[in-house]
Amino acid sequence: MTARIIDGKTIAAELRAQVAGEVARVRRDHGLTPGLAVVLVGNDPASEVYVRSKHTQTQAAGMASFEHKLPAEVSQEHLLALIAKLNRDPTVHGILVQLPLPKRLDTETIINAIDPAKDVDGLHPHNAGRLAGGFAALAPCTPLGCIILSKSVHTSLAGMNAIVIGRSNLVGRPLLQLLLNENATVTIAHSRSRDLAKLCAQADLVYAAVGKPEMVRADWIKPGATVIDVGINRLPTAAGKTKLVGDVAFAEVSQVAGAITPVPGGVGQMTVACLLVNTLRAACAIAGLPKPAV
Ligand code: NDP
Repeated sequence: MTARIIDGKTIAAELRAQVAGEVARVRRDHGLTPGLAVVLVGNDPASEVYVRSKHTQTQAAGMASFEHKLPAEVSQEHLLALIAKLNRDPTVHGILVQLPLPKRLDTETIINAIDPAKDVDGLHPHNAGRLAGGFAALAPCTPLGCIILSKSVHTSLAGMNAIVIGRSNLVGRPLLQLLLNENATVTIAHSRSRDLAKLCAQADLVYAAVGKPEMVRADWIKPGATVIDVGINRLPTAAGKTKLVGDVAFAEVSQVAGAITPVPGGVGQMTVACLLVNTLRAACAIAGLPKPAV
């Protein structure tokens, strides 16, 4: 069997086009322009690339994009004061602090300072708690993207056996909650889990969010399963460059799976598209408008 490749690039482009359509509608009908503020501390090259991509895609969707670049040595008080200002700013509906932050800053305090209504990364305990309780919430973007990709293969995930490998607040835990909301039966695995291969072999849906290059092997996968690879690992090449690989051994797993996401071109493309969705939803909720059609 050769797996169907789940084309994250095309699905993300379709999602961005839907967001742009809804942004144009709320501006025309309600005079509302959703605005996203991104805060970048320091000059980590990978973070700079992500922030640039967010800026370009936010503007392309017709939203306002506000970038705040702060030096690596910025104080916690200064950063908290900026967040307080963005919380009060009526033109800003989404606030994203690019992670990771320099170690001397207290990430938890900074995330907790964001107004939950503007928490488009879905990391504030208010949103994490609401998601865990099965209530409407702003959910983290990468897990949202994983659900959309899964539903591009299966119209319903109800009753399917899913395994999520990884239990981070950013990916694994919220993905577990979103899968439960879709009525899947979910196992969540982590570094202490025993016999991962056996757990995976029972799954119709496999989500790998570990950060270990090509860890998931073909003999772990039930024939025909859908495999969503969240991992982004940079490996050095013989030519002295780097190449991206996921947490799944793509070449061999694609011979067993029914559908699989590539890296790059899979989940990564969805994350920014879902950030735009969350910003639009946050803007509509803050303005007291009905939930947008995306
Ligand atoms: P974290 O490092 O926060 O979490 C990794 C998780 O994997 C932990 O729960 C850890 O378990 C678990 N783990 C580690 N080793 C093993 C193992 N041998 N077997 C089973 N589980 C293991 O990573 P993130 O969740 O932030 O990211 C995971 C991957 O996804 C990374 O490659 C990251 O770059 C990528 N990523 C991609 C995004 C995208 O847009 N495509 C967005 C965000 C992340 P434990 O809790 O026990 O330590």
